[in-house]
Amino acid sequence: MDEKENVQTNFIRNIIDADLASGKHTSVYTRFPPEPNGYLHIGHAKSICLNFGIARDYNGKCNLRFDDTNPDKEEEEYMHAIMEDVRWLGFEWTEEKHASDYFDQLYMFAVKLILDGKAYVDSQSAEDIRNTRGTLKQPGQESPFRNRDIQESLGMFQRMKEGEFTDGEHVLRAKIDMASPNINMRDPVLYRIKRTHHHRTGDDWVIYPMYDFTHCLSDAIEGITHSICTLEFEDHRPLYDWVLDEAGTPCHPQQIEFARLQLKYTVTSKRKLHQLVHDNHVDSWDDPRMPTISGMRRRGFTSASIRDFCDRIGVTKKDSFIEMAVLENSAREDLNEHALRVMAVLKPLKVTIENYPDDQVEMLEAQNHPQHPEMGTREVPFAKTIFIEREDFMEDAPKKFFRLTVGREVRLRYAYYVTCTDVIKDDSGEVIELICSYDPETRGGDSPDGRKVKGTIHWVSVQHAIDAKINLYDRLFTHPDPGSAENFIEHMNPDSLIKLEQCKLEPSLAEADPGKHYQFERTGYFVRDSHEEALVFNRTVTLRDTWAKIDKQNA
Ligand code: ATP
Ligand code: MG
Repeated sequence: MDEKENVQTNFIRNIIDADLASGKHTSVYTRFPPEPNGYLHIGHAKSICLNFGIARDYNGKCNLRFDDTNPDKEEEEYMHAIMEDVRWLGFEWTEEKHASDYFDQLYMFAVKLILDGKAYVDSQSAEDIRNTRGTLKQPGQESPFRNRDIQESLGMFQRMKEGEFTDGEHVLRAKIDMASPNINMRDPVLYRIKRTHHHRTGDDWVIYPMYDFTHCLSDAIEGITHSICTLEFEDHRPLYDWVLDEAGTPCHPQQIEFARLQLKYTVTSKRKLHQLVHDNHVDSWDDPRMPTISGMRRRGFTSASIRDFCDRIGVTKKDSFIEMAVLENSAREDLNEHALRVMAVLKPLKVTIENYPDDQVEMLEAQNHPQHPEMGTREVPFAKTIFIEREDFMEDAPKKFFRLTVGREVRLRYAYYVTCTDVIKDDSGEVIELICSYDPETRGGDSPDGRKVKGTIHWVSVQHAIDAKINLYDRLFTHPDPGSAENFIEHMNPDSLIKLEQCKLEPSLAEADPGKHYQFERTGYFVRDSHEEALVFNRTVTLRDTWAKIDKQNA
């Protein structure tokens, strides 16, 4: 229970505490119920951390349940991706379940409702059913089949199951109240005929139960105590309770709703994510720009930082938008603690150190993490020609530019003080090389005469550098709420990916493991891409929030 003390409480945990105190429950059982029709995204992470986090903190249980009652859109691939993502986030389910496991039981519950006069087979067309549902102001109209004889409904329902009718010819509806102010209670459809192959039950079934019928009964069958879902299901709660009451299940879970995570500058609707993938606006579901868990993993987010983010945003009943900076700051904090420091030059400019011996190579000691000496040191080779960042030189530099310009002295990280003495230009006048001199007394980065320099820059030795490609990722959208725009694709950020081809890295990075996190000193946090054979690094986040200013202007 130690971990619980560090976790923020919230209204759901308060309900659970009260249920345990009153003796309503003696243990807690939750579930995470994704539909296997896409990859999980950061919104799902919130639900995962909530459901699995509660089970962990209360010594309870949490199932992973695939809500697979819509065979049109569901695929095996998604199921496997979902399991991988939940595990990567650090959670393990008590049992893996599938709503389709319950098709037989659900059918029997439907039969019971028919026999009790609580459900009937309606033979109206889908359109007629829709048109007679009424509006928020007007009650619906009862179906002419509403008072169909119980035995007749039962026989027809059996024949629906046996495949005697065509798709859409009949449906099974609950008999509740066509005048209910809650439209969900106006005789909702419980079963429809649909000849679609199901990825688990094959062609066994031609009728499929609807979500509102399936979900509550699946919860009850599994003995779930608290069925946590997002706010859009609040209006479905009376139906959730009605079905369980009429079905007479011994267990009656409590549905509790919370606000969905909405993150600025991205979309978290699976439909929109599908569109991005299928219309090739991104490379794949795990494109590092995607808000999917797999995309974020490939981008270099750690699972700890995602869990931390979910803790920070908390759980409420009020919809609100979360700034992307909150997520990025969680990543920065975690990576700042754990990422190894290395030197990498993104846009190289060659420097020749005139007074350095031609063939000399020195192995200089560099710290892997200045704040964590226990993370050790490594050796970085230094020689007469090095690469520095093109941005660290400026020809007509203002006084406040503390990096290199002719006549200015800077510190090369872990190496020496160097002073720029001259530049070499190409025919077009572009600076292609710097000439510097170094002070041999300043090895390690300090001057014995107490002379100070204001700038420290990173570098790599030309002869030892390894080549790599680097992907600089940024927000996928320039619109704070792209989902609300008429055409969200129009608001994609044209600079969401900048590919750098000729980056120069210190040699220790030749052995970088895919998925290992680094801080490239002064430039950001990076991870070796897990798909590419070649040496490719993805930028997870910059060192500082470069969007803060832009966001302020837009606010
Ligand atoms: P989408 O609209 O993107 O398809 P969904 O809610 O239909 O999302 P499911 O696979 O049914 O996706 O979701 C599984 C669980 O994750 C549900 O309990 C759902 O409420 C929760 N969930 C989905 N999106 C979010 C979100 N943005 N914030 C919090 N929880 C979410
Ligand atoms: Mg859904």
